[in-house]
Amino acid sequence: MSDHSSIEWTDATWNPVRGCTKISPGCAHCYAETFAERFRGVTGHPYEQGFDLRLVPHKLEEPMRWRSSRMVFVNSMSDLFHRDVPDDFIVDAAKVMQIASWHTYQVLTKRADRLASLLKTKLRDAALSPHIWWGVSVENREHGLPRIDHLRSAEAAVRFLSIEPLLEDLGTIDLSGIHWVIVGGESGPGARPMKREWVVSLRDQCRSASVPFFFKQWGGVRKSLNGRKLQGRTYSEFPPIVRGTRPPDVHGLTIPLAPVAHCR
Ligand code: SF4
Repeated sequence: MSDHSSIEWTDATWNPVRGCTKISPGCAHCYAETFAERFRGVTGHPYEQGFDLRLVPHKLEEPMRWRSSRMVFVNSMSDLFHRDVPDDFIVDAAKVMQIASWHTYQVLTKRADRLASLLKTKLRDAALSPHIWWGVSVENREHGLPRIDHLRSAEAAVRFLSIEPLLEDLGTIDLSGIHWVIVGGESGPGARPMKREWVVSLRDQCRSASVPFFFKQWGGVRKSLNGRKLQGRTYSEFPPIVRGTRPPDVHGLTIPLAPVAHCR
């Protein structure tokens, strides 16, 4: 989308893939789908093909052009680990993240099994890079909690959970090996409600486990009315931010990307 974002826990979004398909209840009111489908058929618009999944190879090197350090949400409009994204393309995105190391990357997926399997193999170096954070979405017990176990099964410098939209009480969750937790309620038309006690429980569990806690929003049909305060205060904690230094001649850097033949 853009180098600026209104998402509370990031600075910029980077979308080398566009479009996705639904996989679990957290996808029911997917904001990316709503946005993308608005432009289906609009000639020349980036979302001319609506929410159909497609690779956007010319976007791969975009973070190299951003001179100042940013927190970058990778694929806010898709899921990098969707089955239709080839391994080579994911590896290329990781190469860019490793070379443009003056940014911090937040890679979030609901395809946690594929994430874990690649972190253990083709993405092993990127997994151990402290400026690349690997996260899974958790919306409920049935679909969300197994994703945490997948994530934890892979060695990684920084692992995080995006517990949004929180759809039910998650009970006691295992936070071992988790370095950051974001919690938020659903927003927009038809938003499903989130109870205060579910959030308080997660905040308290993060406190006990010394895990940074970020409370994004209460959500609701008009989220601006409900804000993001929990029991009178704002929670905007992050894990330690470790970044490389941007070289003076960034244009001299080359990225050995795979041939574009696999791109659709
Ligand atoms: S995985 Fe994410 S981007 Fe894909 S449909 Fe679900 S909510 Fe939307």
